Amino acid sequence: MIEVAGLRKTYGDFAAVVDSDFSVEEGEVFGIVGPNGAGKTTTLKVLAGLVDPTEGDVEVAGFPSDDPEMRRRLGFLPEESPLYEEMTPLSYLNFFADLYDVPSEVADERIEAALDRLELDHRDRRLGDMSKGMKRKVAIARSLVNDPDVLVYDEPASGLDPVTTNSVLEFTRELRAAGKTVVFSAHNLYHVESVCDRVVVMNEGRIVARGSVDGIRERHGETTYHVFTD
Ligand code: ATP
Repeated sequence: MIEVAGLRKTYGDFAAVVDSDFSVEEGEVFGIVGPNGAGKTTTLKVLAGLVDPTEGDVEVAGFPSDDPEMRRRLGFLPEESPLYEEMTPLSYLNFFADLYDVPSEVADERIEAALDRLELDHRDRRLGDMSKGMKRKVAIARSLVNDPDVLVYDEPASGLDPVTTNSVLEFTRELRAAGKTVVFSAHNLYHVESVCDRVVVMNEGRIVARGSVDGIRERHGETTYHVFTD
């Protein structure tokens, strides 16, 4: 579902991602784990077509990452979601559904289903008055308004209380059960361990390990585990 070959992204003289190669199978939750500054967000933004690669080939659902059709098939959850503070969850989500030309009856049903499942209360509240966990749930619902095949989630479970963290992790497992393909970044190995089928570990722009979480721990020892755990 996703093919990345020889990806390099530089900002001026600085290389944020170097020689990155990986592929993601349909229906898999694929983790990108690494410390701050490892290049995770840059990689995800390239996948989502938000930044152009300096070198390399990136294909999502059979389309190059700068193809508009790819964007229609993809839902992106940025690390910090820019929410429009004066809007309510419903007005905000309907606004995005409109951008994707989702018919209003379909959008209503989809939005209700996502908000119900994410147990988002206070749907009439201003986004600006919502907690971080509630805002994250609204941003997750937004990533689903176009019913994408591929979800690219940048640290979806970071910075949340334990209950909300577990609900985001559980929701991610449900996306896989529904046949979605998910790319999930984290700097906490526990988060990827509990949802991902395979992971790549990034450090200073490079992939330094890959495989199953257990395999990485076996090959690289507990140190890797602790380095990437909060
Ligand atoms: P974090 O966990 O802190 O979000 P990350 O693994 O997502 O880290 P990136 O955000 O991809 O890392 O950043 C990788 C490197 O690229 C960092 O050193 C960052 O400062 C640099 N970088 C990212 N975006 C830009 C930019 N627009 N201009 C210059 N440097 C950038």
